[in-house]
Amino acid sequence: MAIRVTVWNEFVHEKTEDRVKEVYPDGIHMALKRMLECDEVTVRTATLEEEECGLTQEVLDETDVLIWWGHMRHGLVPDEVVDRVYWRVMNGMGLICLHSAHNSKIFKRLMGTTCSLRWHEIGEHERIAVIDPAHPICQGLPLHFTIDHEEMYGERFDIPTPDELIMLGWFPTGEVFRSGCVWRRGHGKVFYFQPGHETYPNYVDNENIATVIRNAVRYVMPAQHMQIRTDCIKADPLEPYQA
Ligand code: ZN
Repeated sequence: MAIRVTVWNEFVHEKTEDRVKEVYPDGIHMALKRMLECDEVTVRTATLEEEECGLTQEVLDETDVLIWWGHMRHGLVPDEVVDRVYWRVMNGMGLICLHSAHNSKIFKRLMGTTCSLRWHEIGEHERIAVIDPAHPICQGLPLHFTIDHEEMYGERFDIPTPDELIMLGWFPTGEVFRSGCVWRRGHGKVFYFQPGHETYPNYVDNENIATVIRNAVRYVMPAQHMQIRTDCIKADPLEPYQA
């Protein structure tokens, strides 16, 4: 059975800013769809403007891995939709939060911290250090790779200490950042990956970034296509017991 991915994109910058439109003419979600779609992976997309943000219970129930890109309109994602996504993660759905999704409602809810960071955008390059080369998400990557242009995200990144810290970002202006982090939440895995500012074509022309996201889909997908109960269960004794 193929891995069922849903790519959620806010899809605002691409319609309101010419230089973003040039990079992602049909939206970041479509670029990610083209990056991921193959025999083993089916991809559907959902955007903010759709009814219920395109994330109905039915869509989420048919999603193994949800990818999230948002920036300007985090506040417009209804709390009911955030709740629904949260419980699917608790049930085992994988979640990949990209770039400015650090500030999304769903990421902050899952982390329980502010998820704030330092940032500036001056077009500098970024060097990514792969600090856990044996990790499944890092397969096929060199130990270091460069991104020609990226928005600077710097520490402190106010996240809980990651369960798995696999990549660090370094910027020539002197900042460093935990660029690739994994957490377990309930039965689900959450991966945060920092590259992906909307004015640079890093989801189109950087093969290492594509490798990370392709590997991450396979890593965070649930072990089984199933719903796991997350409520408390009154348990009959497994063995006969006489008090
Ligand atoms: Zn950005």
